[in-house]
Amino acid sequence: MRYRQFGKIGYKVSALGFGAMNLPHVPFEQAHAALNYALDRGINYIDTAAAYGKSEEIVGACIGKRRNEFFLATKTGKRDYASAKEEIERSLNRLQTDTLDLLQIHYVNYVNEFKQAMESEGAYEAALEAKRQGKVRHIGITGHRPELLAKWITSGKFDQVLFHLNLAQPFALKELIPKLAELDMGRVAMKPLSGGFIQPVDKALRYPYSQDVHVMISGMISVDEVKQNLAALELEVGDEEKRELELLAEQLGEHNCRRCNYCSCPLEIPIPDMMISSQVRQTFGLLPKGDAFYQKHKGKLLSCAEYEPCREKPLCEEKCPYHLPMQRVVQEASGYFQ
Ligand code: SF4
Ligand code: SF4
Repeated sequence: MRYRQFGKIGYKVSALGFGAMNLPHVPFEQAHAALNYALDRGINYIDTAAAYGKSEEIVGACIGKRRNEFFLATKTGKRDYASAKEEIERSLNRLQTDTLDLLQIHYVNYVNEFKQAMESEGAYEAALEAKRQGKVRHIGITGHRPELLAKWITSGKFDQVLFHLNLAQPFALKELIPKLAELDMGRVAMKPLSGGFIQPVDKALRYPYSQDVHVMISGMISVDEVKQNLAALELEVGDEEKRELELLAEQLGEHNCRRCNYCSCPLEIPIPDMMISSQVRQTFGLLPKGDAFYQKHKGKLLSCAEYEPCREKPLCEEKCPYHLPMQRVVQEASGYFQ
C-alpha cells in the first residue's frame, strides 16, 4: 500500500480509501468483516456521509473501537448553520467518536448553494465552530463541477476537496488538481468505476491511482472486494501504462458530462448515466452493468423521441452548463433496441 502526506493536513493517508456508502445495503456481519479487514490490510482512510443512510452508524459500530487506526471523513449536506450544527452532532454520535478528522460540505454544485453555505448563517460557520471546539479537525468540500471548485478553493477556507476522477470523467485534471497541488491541499478522488460502468475493474482503479491524488475512494462492501481493490494497486503504474490510461480517459471522457445533475428529464431518464454509459459502450461494447441499465430504462429511452414538449427544444439541454447534446445521445442509445 502506498502512503502519502495528505497535503498540509499532514496525516499519512493510504492511497486506497474505503468508501462506506453502500454498506447499509449488506448484512451487518459482512460490513463488519470488510471494514476490519481493510484496516488490518493498511487502509487508513474511511469515507462516509450523513446522507448515506445508516453508513455512519455502521462505521461507528464496526470500527469505532479502532478509531485511532484511521482518518475519518464524513460530510454534511446541510447549507444553513443550525441544521449543519445538528447534523455534525448526529455524525459524531453515530460514528461513536469525539472528533471527525474531516468534515466536508457535501455535493456543492451551484454558485448560490456555495454562497449560502459560506455566508454568516451558513453550514461553513457550523463546521468552523465545531473545529474551534475540537470536534472537527479539518474542513473540506465535495462537488461535481471541477472548474467551480477550482475557483472556490482560492478562498483558503478549505483543507481538502473530494471530486470525480475516473476513466470516464478525467475533468479534474485540467484546473482542479493543479490548483489543489499548488495550494498543498488534500486531493481525494471518488467513483473510480463511475457508478460501475467502467470495466475491467483493475484498469479503472489504476487510472486515478496513476494521477496526482492522495486518496482514491472506492466503494466496497465485502472482504472479496477489498482484496480485489488491493490486488489492483499492488504494483505502481509505469510511464507507458500511465500514457495508455490517459489516452483511454480522453476517449471515454468525450461525452463531457460532469454528473452535475443540473439537468432533469420529465420522463425520468437518468441522463448523466446515459451520457457516460453510451461513451463506454462505443469503446468497449456492451458490459454487464451497462446492459442491465439499458434494459431497465428501455421504455423511457424509447419514449424520448416521441415526447412532444421536447420536440422543438429539449428541456434537458436548456439546463446543461456545458451545452451537451443529451437528446441526441439518448435517442442514439434507444437505437440499440431496434
Ligand atoms: S429530450 Fe429526452 S432526455 Fe431530454 S428532457 Fe426531453 S425526453 Fe428527457
Ligand atoms: S448532461 Fe450536462 S447538466 Fe446533465 S449532468 Fe451532465 S453536465 Fe450536468
